[in-house]
Amino acid sequence: MPKYIFITGGVISSLGKGITSASIGKLLESTGLKITIQKCDPYINVDPGTMNPFQHGEVYVIDDGAETDLDLGHYERYTNALMTRENNITTGKIYHSVILKERRGDYLGATVQVVPHITNEIISHIKKVSSGKDIDIVICEIGGTVGDIESLPFLEAIRQFKQHVGRGNAINIHLTLVPYIKAAQEVKTKPTQHSVGKLREIGIVPEILICRTEKALSKKVKEKIGLFCNVDEDAVIDAPDVRDVYEVPLLFKKQGLDKIVFRLLDLRYKEADLKEWQNRVVKRALHPSKKVTIAVVGKYMELNDAYKSIYEALKHAGVANDAKMDIKKIDSEDIEEKGAEKFLKGVDGILVPGGFGTRGIEGKIKAIKFAREKKIPFFGICLGMQCAVIEFARNACGLKKANSTEFDKSTPAPVISLLEEQKRVKDMGATMRLGAYPCKLKKGTKSYEAYGREKISERHRHRYEFDIHYKRSMEKEGLVISGASPDLRLVEMIEVAGHPWFVACQFHPEFKSKPDDCHPLFRNFVRAALIYQKTYTA
Ligand code: GLN
Repeated sequence: MPKYIFITGGVISSLGKGITSASIGKLLESTGLKITIQKCDPYINVDPGTMNPFQHGEVYVIDDGAETDLDLGHYERYTNALMTRENNITTGKIYHSVILKERRGDYLGATVQVVPHITNEIISHIKKVSSGKDIDIVICEIGGTVGDIESLPFLEAIRQFKQHVGRGNAINIHLTLVPYIKAAQEVKTKPTQHSVGKLREIGIVPEILICRTEKALSKKVKEKIGLFCNVDEDAVIDAPDVRDVYEVPLLFKKQGLDKIVFRLLDLRYKEADLKEWQNRVVKRALHPSKKVTIAVVGKYMELNDAYKSIYEALKHAGVANDAKMDIKKIDSEDIEEKGAEKFLKGVDGILVPGGFGTRGIEGKIKAIKFAREKKIPFFGICLGMQCAVIEFARNACGLKKANSTEFDKSTPAPVISLLEEQKRVKDMGATMRLGAYPCKLKKGTKSYEAYGREKISERHRHRYEFDIHYKRSMEKEGLVISGASPDLRLVEMIEVAGHPWFVACQFHPEFKSKPDDCHPLFRNFVRAALIYQKTYTA
């Protein structure tokens, strides 16, 4: 049976529970343990797939096609843990399966209640994440903040679980805030005391506290927190703001978090080896010798989390190319209003990410026209590829009214449209083309050059597709179909001939980029941006 680490959050949201869980995963994985990380989300949506990015941030897609919380992105970037749809559960998913069982009559006449039916369902989903797999430690992150009504069933479930598996088999780590009050020139421990008190009220006593702070905590403050919260002093870990999020596992190791976890879980200690991570990721991220400016033209620019994996993958590409990544976030509606030149002049590369709906589309198309005509490296992803196809159809093939049927149902040139099977779909949840699909690349293209092989597999999340009827006429004008589904029915990648780097894909490569293993398309896009930079700085 694996051992369990439950991670809760207190005081406020946005303390970085996902990064903390991923970093603990990384730390333990580098001792040789096999780990997995699960996220429990207290909302009623069955998955985040139906939520607006402004509500939820990016929807992260994994190989099996599950639409998941963006924290799974952190888990995959920091660790090698295999993510499946069981790695993300929500209140909605739990209730959905309990109600299905009730309708089937599985509860044999019982009154179905939060305790024990919902809590038992949660426990069985926590067990499922490791069942049949060779896993030593399950890290289970509970979303929300302790004290919320919504997360109570999850907390009750982990309380029972811990009681059931017994001491040495499960521990609780609580992530909390220790604010610095400028006027008093002091850090304050009271919010942490209250938050731990709240956890104790529901029967959970955390063994480790991770304290988010602006500055490292003194020994005296740690002693005080330990004393008032019933936690060993060495198990009060501080987590001050870092220069780079990939530093967090190193920060934890420095304070002996690996040792403490081994002690509390009755495991024989093996030191974590983070040397590679330090040299290949952190050092290179902190001391680049060049700088590159990439414009991201999208429509959820105020919210960093909306394009989380895109920004992370760009950062990885910066590390891979020894360049500091300067991301210029541009709202496509601004380009729509004031033109591309005003916002895009002087950037080294332009990226148009995925998205849904009509708002801002014309701005994206203008940005793509600017990149194509001025020969600025361009990278289009999902909707970004669809917009690139529309732009090419309109401005290179003379199909002035070309569009996607997502934006104009009666366009005379539907270069992007729905496949027959998508036309029949009625429900919105989990009905897109989702997850990993194979793709075959064409030799001699920039796409092939990036991957260095013919067969690839990438993750999808879309309904609309390049309409194959337009393939010939567009190819005639210089559009290159550089990647397609093995049966050649679906266009997966395009390029523009004669352009230094104009590549777009229907899938989402950003989900498979890692800080120590940058995705080849991001790497080569940024490489092309640095080459382009030389042409105007020479
Ligand atoms: N809205 C487009 C579609 O559904 C693109 C989706 C995306 O960019 N993820 O096909």
